[in-house]
Amino acid sequence: MPSTNAIPSPLLSEATIADRIETMAREMVQTLPQDVMLVALLKGSFVFAADLIRAMHRAGMRPQVDFLTIGSYGAGTKSSGKVTLHRDITEAVEGRDIVLVDDILESGGSLRFAKDLIAARGAKTIHIAVLLEKAGKCKHPDIKGDFVGFSIPDRFVVGYGLDYANSYRELPYIGMLEG
Ligand code: 5GP
Ligand code: MG
Repeated sequence: MPSTNAIPSPLLSEATIADRIETMAREMVQTLPQDVMLVALLKGSFVFAADLIRAMHRAGMRPQVDFLTIGSYGAGTKSSGKVTLHRDITEAVEGRDIVLVDDILESGGSLRFAKDLIAARGAKTIHIAVLLEKAGKCKHPDIKGDFVGFSIPDRFVVGYGLDYANSYRELPYIGMLEG
């Protein structure tokens, strides 16, 4: 287990992330309906979602936002695989165009859980936007990112909202922990 004092080695800089999010927002405005509601999966996506909605605004969109808190990792660096709902959204999604926003798509279990929940409540469309994707790791063929920031190697990353044992979320860049 890595220590929570270690300084992560940089993988994606602040400037690289910021540039890519502006481009993602311009891709989103081309594809999505105007009246979308983002459902950001907490905790990991809160930094990404905060930057993404402002980039969407600059791209000409006016998204609404809600939050769904789920968990699958516990305190380690391997997913338990079992997704738990900690806190639900408060808005109605029936008939709405929804964009699920997550920090990283790995096995797809978290987004599978969120998509099924939102679909069961009658959302009209559901798109997926993720900042990161670990290529080749998704176990759910129908779960894929419609908008993907970066495809990264199969390493445990932290920062920009992503944690290790609830630490490192404040790191302004995405880094890798050794070990
Ligand atoms: P999945 O359910 O797709 O396997 O994993 C998605 C969730 O696991 C993400 O929302 C994220 O919270 C967590 N996760 C997956 N890979 C990483 C990683 O490399 N670092 C961190 N900090 N969390 C990860
Ligand atoms: Mg997450």
